[in-house]
Amino acid sequence: MGETDKDDLISIIEEDDPEAAIPTILPMMPLRDVVVFTDMLLPLFVGREKSVNAIEESIAKDRYLFVATQFDPGIEKPKTDQIYRIGTVSRILRMLKLPDGRVKALVQGIAKAKIVKYVRKRSVFRVKIEIIEEPDLSEIDLETEALMRNVREYSEKILTLRGEFTNEVGSILESIDDPGRLADLVASNLRLKIEEAQEIIEIIDPFQRLKKVNDLLFREVELSSMQAKIQSEVKDEISKSQKDYFLREQVRAIHKELGELDERTQEIEEYKAKIKRAKMSREAKEEADKQLRRLEQMHPDSAESSVVRTYLDWMVELPWSKSTTDVIDIKKAKSVLDQDHYGLNKIKDRILEYLSVRKLNPKTKGPILCFVGPPGVGKTSLGRAIANAMKRKFVRISLGGIRDEAEIRGHRRTYIGALPGRIIQGLKQAGSNNPVFMMDEIDKLGADFRGDPSSALLEALDPEQNAEFSDHYLNLCFDLSKVMFILTANISDTIPSALLDRMEVINLSGYTESEKKIIATTHLIPRQIKENGIKSRQIRFSEQAVVQVINEYTSEAGLRNLERELGSLCRKVARRIAEGEKGPFQITRRSLEKYLGPPRYYPEMDKEHSQVGLSTGLAWTQVGGEVLYVEASLINGKGEMILTGQLGEVMQESARAALSYARANVNLFRVKDRLFDSRDIHIHVPAGAIPKDGPSAGIAMATALISALTGRPVSKDVAMTGEITLRGRVLPIGGLKEKALGALRAGIRTVIIPQKNKKDLADIPVNVKRKLKFVPVQNMDEVLAIALEDLPSKNGPKKKPKPKIKTGARKKPMVNRRP
Ligand code: ADP
Repeated sequence: MGETDKDDLISIIEEDDPEAAIPTILPMMPLRDVVVFTDMLLPLFVGREKSVNAIEESIAKDRYLFVATQFDPGIEKPKTDQIYRIGTVSRILRMLKLPDGRVKALVQGIAKAKIVKYVRKRSVFRVKIEIIEEPDLSEIDLETEALMRNVREYSEKILTLRGEFTNEVGSILESIDDPGRLADLVASNLRLKIEEAQEIIEIIDPFQRLKKVNDLLFREVELSSMQAKIQSEVKDEISKSQKDYFLREQVRAIHKELGELDERTQEIEEYKAKIKRAKMSREAKEEADKQLRRLEQMHPDSAESSVVRTYLDWMVELPWSKSTTDVIDIKKAKSVLDQDHYGLNKIKDRILEYLSVRKLNPKTKGPILCFVGPPGVGKTSLGRAIANAMKRKFVRISLGGIRDEAEIRGHRRTYIGALPGRIIQGLKQAGSNNPVFMMDEIDKLGADFRGDPSSALLEALDPEQNAEFSDHYLNLCFDLSKVMFILTANISDTIPSALLDRMEVINLSGYTESEKKIIATTHLIPRQIKENGIKSRQIRFSEQAVVQVINEYTSEAGLRNLERELGSLCRKVARRIAEGEKGPFQITRRSLEKYLGPPRYYPEMDKEHSQVGLSTGLAWTQVGGEVLYVEASLINGKGEMILTGQLGEVMQESARAALSYARANVNLFRVKDRLFDSRDIHIHVPAGAIPKDGPSAGIAMATALISALTGRPVSKDVAMTGEITLRGRVLPIGGLKEKALGALRAGIRTVIIPQKNKKDLADIPVNVKRKLKFVPVQNMDEVLAIALEDLPSKNGPKKKPKPKIKTGARKKPMVNRRP
């Protein structure tokens, strides 16, 4: 086995053995990864058995050994056709047997030869060879001389690039004047691939061989210089950034010497000034100073330094001790509130009381106000008006859908892209530490594995602890005690109870048609006219048109859509004015359809006739009160009850109670008890995709059921709300005002309400009471007496029970609420 130790590859020209003495039959040793050239001196470690045998045979005779290279260095036992035919006759100069059986030998190439045939292959390779004579170039022509010079130069260049050139090597190169020898010497030192080296050894003509070597040298020079270039570029890169840093430091030193400020020092100085101006708490200032010192130490372009910068920016911009001065003039406040808002007298009174207490005792830790009501009833604009009245800043954040505590309290600074929580963000936006801070949709706060945002909110809102509200990002306490928090919600049921305890709930219910009409004329229309750049003489709204927009283009408790529709009317007129028309433009009932398209709601479109098995309930939803239809029908079956329409558990129980009541009183309705054995009862509450719950549809379900059992239709303009007991008693419900307004919008005339809710009628506007008849009842008999019509007479137009009816689509989930 042949393994080379390439560092020892030195060719020495030694011509002590005349070639003539070389025998024609020689032991042969295949080499794995080296080609031996003539004159080359090569130490070998031999391990393969056959090779050891060849060496031993050679030593035993005249120390001649033929070496040839195998095609593939990986083959352990090469066959004869896996070994190159042309190789080198060598002599073993020295040999040492190692204890492990291997042999270390120093061999020298003597002459190039060709294997004529293998004489022996088993225990040792023995070959018959034929020496290859090279043509003698005794006369060296100019071309050869030039080529030799080239080869010498290239060799020196490569060795220099590799850092291997010495004077000794130089003089050896100079001393060789035989082109063939020069080619072999250079080739053996060039770190060639086996195939390339073998290619060279097989070229017999010395000139051609030298030429080939020259080509390889050329390629090698290119490669080596490219490699060197790449290396030096990498080095340059690194040293450039170091150089920049040193230069910058030097510039700093020079600036300092000259008493000038460089960019970085300037930045630090600016921060120092800003920190001073921010008048932070002592603890905050310490932290800011500490971070500033860290920034000073850092490389200005590092990622870490930009994190510190962002933190400092937050710190210096927060209103640590910036407050606005409260102006509490109750009379003026009243006029501001009145100016922006029509009606809402109870609420305005409550707000003025609150302000009065603040005026008399500025340190008071008053309750936190929470405005509860459907969208568009003026919760936000009231908040804004309060801020205006007190001359405080106003900020508003929405809590809807927040599940992560970090949204309230911020992320720790170790997170990439961390920010303070929404409260601190809001305060920065306000720019003062005593704004009116409105938090919307507190009823839509979530909680999950990321922590409970309501507990963080509690800390912020609780006057007892909010002087030390801690934000994770700041990692400090911020005093929130001067902030005036106002919360808003659509319904109070889903507000976390711990929060609800600390608040004073102020209910804002929807507006009636006439209230809407007044607000539209006094507030919404003038505002829209102004916003759309129209002059008030250019547009005129007729009263009927406004009423029609309220009733037929919107159906809502609040004013949002109304304001939008009025805005859209103004926009259309603005376009005509911009196009050059003169006006004035009259918005009348007739022109309404032209501007807004066909009406979207007909107040009485839902129910045209009184029907059997169809009653009208009332629901209190997120968007105000709405009517809720209940269908009941009997189908062939075995007395089972089917409930559909995504009814919640409470509502299902309520349906069961209604059925039990009906069964217990079959005699009263003149229905045979046997009927239940052969019929299933199906109760469905349409808008089936919307979840509904709550007990207040109890009497509506019982009415639909009994109507279906008796065949007596339910009067089309009666709506009802109330919980039912097994004995038919009617229990009170909540949200009467909202429900009444919803009933009115749906064109109902009579509303059956529980006796116990009679007191709530006081809250219902007079003009609603004028249009709606409220009938308080105590038990189911009274309900049925009002709601059920007589059986259709045999002569009259007979209406078949028709449980499936078309109803208007609902937009929002309906939830019947307990009182
Ligand atoms: P909310 O916050 O309850 O959803 P907004 O405050 O956004 O309602 O009110 C919707 C619009 O209706 C606003 O433009 C507001 O000014 C107007 N608005 C509501 N209530 C009144 C009122 N009583 N008088 C005058 N404008 C009102």
